[in-house]
Amino acid sequence: MNPVIGLDLGSTAIKAVIVNDGEIIWRGKTPTAPDQEVLANDLIGAGLRELGLPADAKYPVASTGYGKSLYKAADLRTDELSANARGLFKLSDGMARSLINIGGQDLKTIKLSETGEVSDFRMNDKCAAGTGRFFELAARLLNVPLSSFAALSKEPGVSVELNSTCVVFAESEIVSLLARGVPPQSVVRALHASVARRAAGLLGRISSDAVWLDGGPAQNRGLVEAMEEELLTEIKVTPEPQFTVAYGAAISLVA
Ligand code: ADP
Repeated sequence: MNPVIGLDLGSTAIKAVIVNDGEIIWRGKTPTAPDQEVLANDLIGAGLRELGLPADAKYPVASTGYGKSLYKAADLRTDELSANARGLFKLSDGMARSLINIGGQDLKTIKLSETGEVSDFRMNDKCAAGTGRFFELAARLLNVPLSSFAALSKEPGVSVELNSTCVVFAESEIVSLLARGVPPQSVVRALHASVARRAAGLLGRISSDAVWLDGGPAQNRGLVEAMEEELLTEIKVTPEPQFTVAYGAAISLVA
């Protein structure tokens, strides 16, 4: 066994994967907070313990994400766009050409070359309205867990729209919809559609048959379906979409 470790120090969550022979053998995450190096080491320690691997041995670590420089012990630091492209390219067996990544505080689109390099990217981090934080805020306003959004969005309701492009205004729009008696499922559907519209606008023309979606919010099937309706194409999601970037960092250690 020759395990390598990928660490994605994101704006919202720190993700770690332990990879052996190209396969993820352990994954874990913890909310981002001060002392990121300590949090990351605790996460890695938990993974090594669960796998029964000696904690005092030295394993190569690659860090990426906003906080990549905060992990001083990294053997390699890599930017998150390249890590995302590399991880997704491998996980999609070289098929992915267009990617939407939704993180805690930004929305990115990446075009990949035939060899898996980043050929183009766009980022919207000026306003939180299309990001993971916005979903978290909506979950609080609706008083339902984020993990129930997909099921909730299937329930019958009424048709409403969320039009604000800024999270502060979007928040008051949600509050006033709820005050008017609009059911939560209708607000959730409107939220999915608004994020899908934003992502589609950023992605622009699609030159591939399918578009991949990753980042934490990609776990929400309701959002995936809203994206398919908006983009009129198949949206593919890798099995653990929140860990693609950490995986991409890990495999850059063995490339
Ligand atoms: P970052 O790398 O910027 O920290 P992530 O890719 O880790 O961001 O995504 C974090 C976001 O993922 C959270 O803000 C939240 O909206 C979303 N998320 C986390 N878990 C779930 C879940 N089970 N279902 C839907 N969304 C989720």
